[in-house]
Amino acid sequence: MLRRVALWLVIMMLTISVSAVWAATPGVVDVNALNLRSGPGHGYKIISTMSRSTPLVIMSESGEWKQVMASSGLIGWVFGQYIVADQSFQAGNHNVVVRASRLNVRQGPGTTYPVVTTLVQDQLTQVTGKIGEWFQVRVSGKTGFIHQEWVTPVTEENPVQGSVSVPLARVLVSVLNMRGGKGTEFPVVTKLNLGMLVAVLEEGTWSKIMLENGVIGYVLSEYVENVGGQALARISANMVNERSGPDTTFSILATHPAGKTLAFSGWDGSWVKVSSTSGTGYILGNLLSFAFTTAPIDFTLPPAIGIQGFVVAVDAGHGGPDPGAIGVNGLREKNINFTMALKLRALLVAAGAEVVMTRVGDYTLSIDERIGIAHNAGADLFVSIHNNAHPSSAVSGTQTFYGVTLGSFNLGHQVHRRLVGLGMEDKGLLNANFGVLVRTKIPAILTETGFLSNPDDAALLAQETFINHAVQAHFEGIHEWLATKR
Ligand SMILES: [Zn+2]
Repeated sequence: MLRRVALWLVIMMLTISVSAVWAATPGVVDVNALNLRSGPGHGYKIISTMSRSTPLVIMSESGEWKQVMASSGLIGWVFGQYIVADQSFQAGNHNVVVRASRLNVRQGPGTTYPVVTTLVQDQLTQVTGKIGEWFQVRVSGKTGFIHQEWVTPVTEENPVQGSVSVPLARVLVSVLNMRGGKGTEFPVVTKLNLGMLVAVLEEGTWSKIMLENGVIGYVLSEYVENVGGQALARISANMVNERSGPDTTFSILATHPAGKTLAFSGWDGSWVKVSSTSGTGYILGNLLSFAFTTAPIDFTLPPAIGIQGFVVAVDAGHGGPDPGAIGVNGLREKNINFTMALKLRALLVAAGAEVVMTRVGDYTLSIDERIGIAHNAGADLFVSIHNNAHPSSAVSGTQTFYGVTLGSFNLGHQVHRRLVGLGMEDKGLLNANFGVLVRTKIPAILTETGFLSNPDDAALLAQETFINHAVQAHFEGIHEWLATKR
C-alpha cells in the first residue's frame, strides 16, 4: 500500500514538472545508440539507450544537454548534438479535420504520453509539425500530438465534410420496445436488449432509429443514450455504383467492390447516403449491410477499482521453434501473440490486476507447463492469445473458444463480442477440446483475433493501431467479467 502511494506521488510530481517546462519540440535520435541519462552530464546514471530514429520530444535545455521525453514515456537527458529536429514535415499552413468521435491530444508522439485535451469529431485543427505517424497540433493555446490515422488533411479536393456517420445510441434498459410509429399506440416491431447499439436517424421524444439488420422503428429517447462511434455501410454485392444523387439518373462517382466499408449518413427513399474521405454519395440500400462500432480510438482505462486483487494468466501462444501460423505477409503468429500479451498485461496491471505471463520471451512451453504456471499463481482466469490460419485464403474473421470450467462461456462472450465490434467477421464463440481449455481448473478462453492466411486480416494484424484495438477488446471483456464477479 505504502509503495503504491509513493509511486503516485512520483507520477504526480513528474506530471507537474513536465507541464511546467513543456516546450514540445519534436526530434529524433541521430546516432546508432544514444544514452538517456538521469541528469545533464556524462556522470549521470544511464536510464535507457535509444536507437537511431527513435522519436522523442525536447522539453528543456541545459548547456549542451537536452531534457527529452522518449516515446516510452521515460524522461531524461541526452547530449544535444545527437538529436535532430524532425524534418519530415514541411512548414506551412496545414489543417486537419478529426474523423474519430473523440480523439486524445497527447503530450508526446505515442499512446504512453499523458492526455492534454480531447478533440471531437469534425473539429478543425491546426497542424504545426509531424513526427513519425503523429501530427503536432495547437489546440486552444496548448501543444500536443494526435495520431494521423484519425484525421483527414483539408485540401482543395477534400473540403471539410459535415457529420460523417449518423450518431449511435445504446439501449439503457433490459427490454425496450421498438414501435412502428411515435407513440405507444403503434405496434411493437421488435424488442431491444440492454446495451444494444442503434443508429439514430432522427432525434425527438420518440427517436427514429435503425438496427444493424436495417430495420427502422421508433423508441422513447429517454431509454437510450448517445455514444461515440460509427455506423458503417458495407457493400454486399460486387461492382456497386455510388451516385451523386438518390436515383439511377445521377452520375456515377465511384464503383465499389464487395466488402468496401463507408460511413452511413442516412436514408433518402430506398437509397443510402454514404460518406468517405472523398465526399458524399448515394448507394441503393439493398446493396448494403450495416455494422455499428464503438471501437476505441486509443487505450482508455476504466477506474482501477473493480479488478484489484484478481490474478489474470496471459498466455502468448507458440514461441521459439514453434512459430504458429505464418502470415501471407510474412508475419509470425508467435510474435503477434506475444506483442498482444505484453500490451494486455500493461492494461490489466494499470487497472489494478496482477498478471502472470506463461512465456515471457521467445521460447515454447508445453500445454501443461502453461496451465501449471497459471494454477501455481492462483490465477482467476486464463486467456490464451492466438491468431488463426486456414487452407483457404478466403476465410477471415475472429473466433473465440471457451473452456469447460463454469464461467468460461461468459468470459468468452465478453471478449468475443468486442472483437466482432471492431468490424471483424464473426466466426463464432465456440467450445473446443484444446488442452489449455479442458485441463485448466479456472475459467479459460483462447482467442483467434484474425486469420493470418487471409490478406485482409493479415494486413490488419500488421497495424499497431488494430493490435491496440484488439488488445483493448480483450482487456475490456476481461475487466467486465471480473467486475461482475466481485
Ligand atoms: Zn496458434
